[in-house]
Amino acid sequence: MKLLFEKSVEGRYQDIIPNCDVPETEIPQNLRRKNSPRLPQLSEIDISRHYTELAKRTHGVNDGMYPLGSCTMKYNPKINDEMAALPGFTKIHPLQPEETVKGAWEVMDTLENYLCEITGMDKMTFQPSAGAHGEYTGLLMIKSYHLAKGNKEKNEIIVPDSAHGTNPASCTMAGFKTVTVPSDSQGCVDLEALRAAVNEHTAGLMLTNPNTVGIFDKNILEITKIIHDAGGLNYYDGANLNAIMGQVRPGDMGFDVIHLNLHKTFSTPHGGGGPGAGAVGCKNLLADFFPKVRSFNGNFGVVVRALCYVLTLGAEGVPETSANAVLNANYMRVMLKDTMDMAFDGICMHEFVASLTKLKSETGVSALDVAKAMLDYGIHPPTMYFPLIVDEALMFEPTETESKETMDQVIQALKEIIGKTKTDPEYLHGAPHTTVVRRLDEVKAAREPKLRYSFE
Ligand SMILES: *Cc1c(COP(=O)(O)O)cnc(C)c1O
Repeated sequence: MKLLFEKSVEGRYQDIIPNCDVPETEIPQNLRRKNSPRLPQLSEIDISRHYTELAKRTHGVNDGMYPLGSCTMKYNPKINDEMAALPGFTKIHPLQPEETVKGAWEVMDTLENYLCEITGMDKMTFQPSAGAHGEYTGLLMIKSYHLAKGNKEKNEIIVPDSAHGTNPASCTMAGFKTVTVPSDSQGCVDLEALRAAVNEHTAGLMLTNPNTVGIFDKNILEITKIIHDAGGLNYYDGANLNAIMGQVRPGDMGFDVIHLNLHKTFSTPHGGGGPGAGAVGCKNLLADFFPKVRSFNGNFGVVVRALCYVLTLGAEGVPETSANAVLNANYMRVMLKDTMDMAFDGICMHEFVASLTKLKSETGVSALDVAKAMLDYGIHPPTMYFPLIVDEALMFEPTETESKETMDQVIQALKEIIGKTKTDPEYLHGAPHTTVVRRLDEVKAAREPKLRYSFE
């Protein structure tokens, strides 16, 4: 497929920019560019077709199921986008006089109140732009708290080995040392190991519950108490809130500061790197320590979507949503447990992890092969090779928005794929067979990113 620059034809353009209707001002000489920018020159239809062609090459929730574990790729009702696109919201400017944007403040206040109620927090900010940004913000708050208390020796954050990769990364960014504690055979925190890891350097704990293997840690009250007894604070990575919202609150589990991924649980389309919001909430003891982590008030459109979503669901819909997310994951888990080995026994929360170690040793077919074969069925693969504590991991999160019929199709597809491991493993090694591109180099894009067009 050609790039826009390669499709460009000198002099071709679309006259869509209206004439200037405000007085022109002189741009100072030193700020003027010397050469005109080398922008591609195309007509509107060329551009429209270009992006349509690109859209056809990708997979979104509108194409089919997207069970990418830990990412909550649920369907986001269109009405939320419509509300966020209302001119009263899109045509305001953060530098406008405050009294002219009171409605926007009301949106943020109302959402703050609802989310504090859902999570058991006292205060919340919508500044952080993503989950990882929220983690960083929350950790800075823990740091400021200890500094204010004169706890200079507290420089360690305890993180379970099942944690999302952003957790230890955020600890490092915030200037903490990460202390890793192992998980037990159920994927939960090993209490003995936790007790052994706690000491006078413990500034806090960072945990997601349900954890990244989709299991709710039943010892959570004991865990948060161990940290509090050592003078530390508890940080809740709330990216998995879809499993528990309306059922149980991080504030009641003993957490002092949390982030939510509004773009996951609260209905903003994500996955293409678009705007997100890692809302950070805290108990009153941390309310004085909110740092300024970005301009203005964050990605406001995400906040509008989240409010619209919460209002649509209402007090009954919020717990029903998480209950259905858990029901769907357990339905798929049970229907697939004779087809794939599950990494952990028993009831899961909103996601479950299969481990294809045995399949790989018997047939040579890997988790990667199975994931790639799913593309031929129009299904987005699950998360692969994560969490790191599970070998040959495939992690499925169906979300509450998939119907039984759709899940049955995916279950059927997976049974067919696993069936082929005996009859035609070569087919699976070569999958996908029907997509525009086949197997891509899994690391090249990260190691040698090409972020700009080279005119040479
Ligand atoms: C998605 C996720 C994050 C990171 O969120 P981003 O918005 O991608 O930065 C952190 N923790 C968990 C458990 C997640 O699933």
